[in-house]
Amino acid sequence: MNKSLLELLVCPVCRGPVHPEDEDSRLVCPACRVAYPVREDIPVMLPEEAKPWEPKEHQAQ
Ligand SMILES: [Zn+2]
Repeated sequence: MNKSLLELLVCPVCRGPVHPEDEDSRLVCPACRVAYPVREDIPVMLPEEAKPWEPKEHQAQ
């Protein structure tokens, strides 16, 4: 994914930064604990498209 594009992306709910997970197939907002889908390299930053996301326990966040 384009890095400069990624830097422009914020969570539409909390306006916090998001980060890619699972090889850019989705963008995670750790603050809201949701993941936004990426479809054909286009992030879908819509609250209604967000899926629940939980931090993996073995990862230090
Ligand atoms: Zn958020």
